[in-house]
Amino acid sequence: MQLRIGNGYDIHRLVPGRPLILGGQQLDHPEGLGLDGHSDADVLVHAIMDALLGALSLGDIGKYFPPDDPRWKGADSLVLLEQVVALVAERGWSITNVDSVVVAERPKLKPHIAAMRAAIAQRMGLDPDQVGVKATTNEQLGAEGREEGISCHAVALLHRP
Ligand code: MG
Repeated sequence: MQLRIGNGYDIHRLVPGRPLILGGQQLDHPEGLGLDGHSDADVLVHAIMDALLGALSLGDIGKYFPPDDPRWKGADSLVLLEQVVALVAERGWSITNVDSVVVAERPKLKPHIAAMRAAIAQRMGLDPDQVGVKATTNEQLGAEGREEGISCHAVALLHRP
């Protein structure tokens, strides 16, 4: 069996007047902040997409969904994820698992983790136990700690017979 591993990283700014969408779930930030971006700015799904593309050296999401393309304005990132999963499948690879960690000071993500995993797994054609989503604060350090943004790191493992 052949194996491939990829890693992904993304960060988006927290701003007023935008929804806060993570793992396809709309969350409430205590200050009413949301993530800025051309699409829905779902930083968790973006990091997973980059991990999948990276595993096959296919480039990054900016290549497939450029931020200056009006087609992706306000796009549901879970729909973009489906397209990346299709690219992986077209090349004969299966996804073994993905894992991720979201770096956010607030809101508390723990109550939403199960729903995020279920939504991501469903769009990827996986079981939720193949989709790891973890959350950490940044101990009030750095951009995430100052709530200037939310970032996410992800890895993906692929296999082929
Ligand atoms: Mg992004």
